[in-house]
Amino acid sequence: MSKPVLIVGGGPAGLAAAHSLATVGKPCVLVEKEDRLGGAPILSGYAKLVPTDEWAKDAIGGMVTRVENEDNVRIETGTKVTKFDGTPGNFTAMLSNGESLQAEAAVLCSGFTHFDSVNKPEWGFGTFPDVVTTTQVEQMISSGKGVRCPSDGRMPKRVAILLCVGSRDRQIGREWCSKICCTVSSNLAMEIREELPDCHVYIYYMDIRTYGLYETKYYWRSQEEFKVKYIKARIAEVTSDGEHLIVKGEDTLVKRPITIPFDMVVHAIGMDPNVDNPEIAETFGIELESNGFLDVAHNYGTMGQTSRPGVFVAGAATGPETIDDSIAQGHAAAMAVLSGNKEAIGRTA
Ligand SMILES: Cc1cc2nc3c(=O)[nH]c(=O)nc-3n(C[C@H](O)[C@H](O)[C@H](O)COP(=O)(O)OP(=O)(O)OC[C@H]3O[C@@H](n4cnc5c(N)ncnc54)[C@H](O)[C@@H]3O)c2cc1C
Ligand code: SF4
Repeated sequence: MSKPVLIVGGGPAGLAAAHSLATVGKPCVLVEKEDRLGGAPILSGYAKLVPTDEWAKDAIGGMVTRVENEDNVRIETGTKVTKFDGTPGNFTAMLSNGESLQAEAAVLCSGFTHFDSVNKPEWGFGTFPDVVTTTQVEQMISSGKGVRCPSDGRMPKRVAILLCVGSRDRQIGREWCSKICCTVSSNLAMEIREELPDCHVYIYYMDIRTYGLYETKYYWRSQEEFKVKYIKARIAEVTSDGEHLIVKGEDTLVKRPITIPFDMVVHAIGMDPNVDNPEIAETFGIELESNGFLDVAHNYGTMGQTSRPGVFVAGAATGPETIDDSIAQGHAAAMAVLSGNKEAIGRTA
């Protein structure tokens, strides 16, 4: 029997890579550090996904079940790779559970870490309980409890969603755009309006990046059908007058200061490099790119090849990615492994 392919991370990208390889008869070992598969959409309890409107637990849960039922995939949860030696086609990996295994290649699908809003203290997170993140609002919706103010459980009458929290922010060393948070926020705003029709929802933005086909479905629909209000602003701080949260800033279209009270303020948090990336780079002997994501050697030739032949990468491990692009990259990395490309895994053709 041929040596398996080692896949690190059981999110959308890792599940796609495992499925691709397993269906063509290639054995895989899927190593996931948490105690369950599914990655951010499952572990963080996302609600309905953009752009399909499918519940994360159904869409990504279905991918998990498909891989769990696959004979060619061995799953090791609660496990990390601690050592990785050898050459393409002939690697040896040590796992944190004490096992070792031979592998033909590795595909790193270790994803991202959500930005921690305590790193943006002037916007109130960690100080005021009703300042929450998009992930928390997703959890309120997916748990069926509905959108409520954490401080006292009341239904909010006024909600502000602040975009680019932990993205496009040079002051805190995060220059990248996280790609999906504008669209996710427009979608959440519509979901809040649907659940609480009397609630006013404002989105504070620098620029709106509901790119491609998302412009009509999210940006325009949220305004025209759901009456979500957009304010182009530079936010100074989020404070409290004891009764309401106060968002202070400058309306950058009319160049005037604005101060508006809210019941709930939502941080649209971005995608940081996985906190494990330095450890992963060291273990697998691969390069990080300048922001700390896992670097790819080529953008066009071989998809997902890292700086080390035989080690591939896919999904949000490489930088902010959507779920569908992460899945596509997982399949592409699987194909690169299978193609046995000379450049990719160092075999002679
Ligand atoms: C608030 C928010 C909402 C979003 N909503 C959407 C949406 O509606 N639609 C959409 O397209 N995108 C959405 N995204 C983006 C989406 O989360 C990512 O595209 C997707 O999760 C990337 O999948 P992935 O498999 O690459 O990484 P992840 O989902 O991060 O999965 C990585 C997996 O690897 C595991 N792992 C990490 N390190 C290690 C290690 N050292 N060893 C072993 N395992 C490890 C993790 O535990 C995790 O299971 C959203 C993002 C945010 C921040
Ligand atoms: S997608 Fe939108 S909210 Fe997210 S970082 Fe880019 S511009 Fe900011």
